[in-house]
Amino acid sequence: MKLRIYSLKFGINTCYILKGKGIIMIDGGPPNAIKKFEKYTTKFRIEPDEIKLIILTHADFDHAGSAGAIKERTGAQIAIHKNDREILEEGLFNWPPGVTRWGKVSHTIFSPMMRRMPIPPQKADIILNDDDFPLYDFGIEGKVIYTPGHTAGHVSVLLDNGDFFAGCMAHNIRLFTPGPRLPIYAEDIEQIRKSWKKVIEQGAKMVFPGHGNAFQVKRILDYIK
Ligand SMILES: [Zn+2]
Ligand SMILES: [Zn+2]
Repeated sequence: MKLRIYSLKFGINTCYILKGKGIIMIDGGPPNAIKKFEKYTTKFRIEPDEIKLIILTHADFDHAGSAGAIKERTGAQIAIHKNDREILEEGLFNWPPGVTRWGKVSHTIFSPMMRRMPIPPQKADIILNDDDFPLYDFGIEGKVIYTPGHTAGHVSVLLDNGDFFAGCMAHNIRLFTPGPRLPIYAEDIEQIRKSWKKVIEQGAKMVFPGHGNAFQVKRILDYIK
């Protein structure tokens, strides 16, 4: 069965629904995104209860804020890495520091406003460790792979065909960067370079970032050296 990839844009965030033999979702969008989520599933002709798994690339508010509401609507399980679990389950505000000039400036400007946003505590069902987590049981030919750096618990999804769902390992929206680049916010940018090497070795080809449009992996090679 041919895999279908659906992009769900919530403001500056892009989440993905993958439909193979089964259906999974990558990231849960910012808080209060449930109405928009429902519009998307209607548009894509997906019954919400067909979605069995929501993989959170990390627990930042803009990637995880509606995961709990989507779980309630779909019955899907939420998967998150153990290092980001507490942020999710306690409803903590998390936003890694800026690592570029604009990253630092924008973080300083917008952080006070973002911090006021209420984030619901959300319960995870599957706690990932540093090992690969295969997705075959969910009808998707690929795996979750541990790719720390943006946060200590950042994971990505690598499909057997090379499609790579990178969360915040890369940014590709004009508000952040002029093209595909390493993220402008990160806890450990060197660690992100290591994570990139790991996924490229394992066959990542087409990159689907959590912010912005897809691009070929070769476009980021210069930035991970
Ligand atoms: Zn993030
Ligand atoms: Zn983000």
